Amino acid sequence: MPAQTSRVPLIATLAALAGVAVLLVAPAPSDAPGRAAIGRVPTAATPPATDGEDRPGQGTNRPTPPASASGRPGDPSRPERDGRADEPGAVPSATARPGASRTDRRPPVVDHGPRVGNLVALTFDADMTDAMRYQLRSGAVRSYANLAIIDLLERERVPATFFLTGKWVEEYPGVTRRLAANPRFELANHTYGHLAFTADCYQLPTIPRQRMAADVARTFDVIAPYGGRQTRYFRFPGLCHDRTALAELAPLGVTVVDGDVVSGDPFAKSWRPVVDAVLSRVRPGSVVVLHVTEANAPMTDEALPRILAGLAELGLRPAPLSEVLGATPAG
Ligand SMILES: [Zn+2]
Repeated sequence: MPAQTSRVPLIATLAALAGVAVLLVAPAPSDAPGRAAIGRVPTAATPPATDGEDRPGQGTNRPTPPASASGRPGDPSRPERDGRADEPGAVPSATARPGASRTDRRPPVVDHGPRVGNLVALTFDADMTDAMRYQLRSGAVRSYANLAIIDLLERERVPATFFLTGKWVEEYPGVTRRLAANPRFELANHTYGHLAFTADCYQLPTIPRQRMAADVARTFDVIAPYGGRQTRYFRFPGLCHDRTALAELAPLGVTVVDGDVVSGDPFAKSWRPVVDAVLSRVRPGSVVVLHVTEANAPMTDEALPRILAGLAELGLRPAPLSEVLGATPAG
C-alpha cells in the first residue's frame, strides 16, 4: 500500500476554526474520533493546468464576481461519480481528477504518500466560519487570506495544495482565481462553512448527518468554476471524522486527506514552533498541514521561508498533493 495511517497528534488545528476570541484558549482536544483505517491511494492523474501562467497581483481582499467557468469542459459535472459503482475492483479512470475514488464505499483516508523519493506536500487550509465572516464584517479582522504566503510560493515557484472552504472562496474570489491560475497549485475541498462532522470537534458547531454530503458537494460546486487543478481531495474541519461521516461522503467519490505533519500554525505566537514542528516530523511522502488564514494563523508566512529552507537542507522537495500521494503505484 502506498500510504498508511499513522497517528497524528491533532493539535492546534482546532483554533483556526473559531474566529471567536474565547475559543482561542480552548484546551487542546483529544484525538479525533474514528481515525479510520486507510484505504488505497487512488491513481492520481494530474490534469493539465488550464489557466496558463501565473497572474501575480490578481489577489485581492475585495470580493469580486467569480470568474466564469474556465478551461475545463463540463466542470460542474462529476463524471467520476458515474459508471464505476458496478465495476468490482475498479479503480478511478486515468482521466479522473486526482483523489477521485469509488462511490460505493467509504472514501479512503490518507495521511501521507509513499515513504520513498523526496517529495512532500505543503497543504494550506482556508477556513471560513460564520464567526470569522462576522469578524471581517465588523472590521475586527482585516484578512483571513494570507497573501504573503501566496506571494512567496509564486516567487519561489513552490507547488502547494489549498483546501478551500466554500465560504472562503466566496469571500475571496480574486484570491481564489489567483490560486486556480497557478499551474503548481491544486485546489481541494474543506467543506462549505467549516462545521464539525463529528459530535466533539474543537467546539465547532456540528453539521447534521443528513446535510454532510450536500455540504461537501456544494463546496465542489463553488470551487469548480475557477478551473485550474481541481481535485477530489477533501479534508474534514479539525481532521474530525468517524465511520458515519465517511459513509455519508461515500457517494461523492473523494479521498479524505488528513496529514502526518500538523504544523500547529493556528494562532501561533512565533514562527519558531511552527518551523520546528514541521521540520522535526517531515519525511518523504509527508503531507504538511498549514493554514492560509492570516489572522487565525499569523506566523505562517514568517515560518514558511524557514520551512522551505529546512526542506531543502533535508533534501525534500514540495510537490502537488496528487504527485506526493501517487508517487509510486501500489505494488
Ligand atoms: Zn480547517
